Amino acid sequence: MRVQVDQPTLPLRPVPRCVRPMLNETVASFVWRIAETHRLHPYELLEFLAQSQRHKAPVPGDRLAALSGVPLHVLKYALPELCTTDDVNLLRIAGRPRPNFRERVGCPRCIGHWHTSKWVRFWARQEDVICNSHWVWTGTTGSLEISAYPEIAPEVIRANRRHRRLIRRYGREAVRTAYRHAGELCWTWRSNKQTRNRLTAFLGPEWSILRDDPAAEASYYPQVIELTRLLSSPYWRSLILDDHLPASTPREPGEMLGVPARFCWLMESTPGIEQFVREVRRTVYPRFYWNPYSSYRSYEPFTKWVLDELEERFAPSPYGSWRHQPEVFGAEPTGVRSK
Ligand SMILES: [Zn+2]
Repeated sequence: MRVQVDQPTLPLRPVPRCVRPMLNETVASFVWRIAETHRLHPYELLEFLAQSQRHKAPVPGDRLAALSGVPLHVLKYALPELCTTDDVNLLRIAGRPRPNFRERVGCPRCIGHWHTSKWVRFWARQEDVICNSHWVWTGTTGSLEISAYPEIAPEVIRANRRHRRLIRRYGREAVRTAYRHAGELCWTWRSNKQTRNRLTAFLGPEWSILRDDPAAEASYYPQVIELTRLLSSPYWRSLILDDHLPASTPREPGEMLGVPARFCWLMESTPGIEQFVREVRRTVYPRFYWNPYSSYRSYEPFTKWVLDELEERFAPSPYGSWRHQPEVFGAEPTGVRSK
C-alpha cells in the first residue's frame, strides 16, 4: 500500500493495530514498526507524517499521536525526540538520553520479536552498552549475548560498572570526552593481546572485524574504560599534561619540531610522565611508550592527544561548542571543556 505524501490536510485516524512506543526509542524506529505492522512503506510513512521529503525531517508529535492512537504525553515520555525543554520537569525525564547523540540496538530479550527488525533503534547514554538484566551487549550495529562467553562476560560487566562509577566521580561530560578519546586511541593499539584474546573467544581464531561489530566493541570495551579512567582523572591528567607546560608565560616563540607555537617542546621524560606510562602499560597497553617527537610533522596518536589537550587549554577551539551539549536531559550545557 502506498502512502500519499502530498496530502497534508488528510485527517489522521489511528491505525487499526496499536503499536506501543518503547522507552527511549527513536521516532524513525517507532514509525518503522507502525509501517511494518500495517505493511506500509516506512520511508513514505515518515515523509507523510513529517509533511516533508527532506531527509530526517522532524515528525510532529501531534500527527504521530493521531496516527498511532497513543496519547501525546505517553509518546513524549517514551520518545526523546518529541520532548522540549519544558517537558523535562513535567514528564520527569531528567537523566534520560537526549536525542541525536548515540543510537544503539535494543536487547533482543527485552524487545521481543522486534529484534528481527533491523531498523529498531534507541537513544542511549555513553554507559548504556549492556542490558544488565540479560547480559547482552547492545551495540551500534547489532547485539551480542556476552553471557554465552562466561570467560569474558565478567570482564565486560565489570568494565561497565567502572564506567558508571567514573561518571559519578568525575562527571558525565568529562568522562564522555575521555571515553571518546580512549576509544580512538585503543583502536590504534590493536595489537593489544588481551583485546585480541577476547576477539578470538568471541569469533574464533580466524576472526576479522569491522570497528562497529558488536564483538569488536565488547572486546575493546574493558581496555577503553581503563584508559578512560586515566584520561578523565585530574590526577593522571596532571601527570601527563602539566609537566609540558612552561614555567613562565612563553614569549612569542617560533614553531619548533611542529609543536604548536605556545609550547617550546614536549618533555621527553619526567617522573610524572614515567609514572603515567607505567600505569598505561599496566592497565591498558603493555607495549605503550611515550614518544614526544614528530616524524615528518606527524605524531603518535597519544602524543597528538597530549598536544590537542595542551592547545585547548591556551586556545579553546571555537568549533568545539557541539561538545558542550549535554547528552542527557536536565543537565546544563557546559561552557568550557573539561580540563
Ligand atoms: Zn534485556
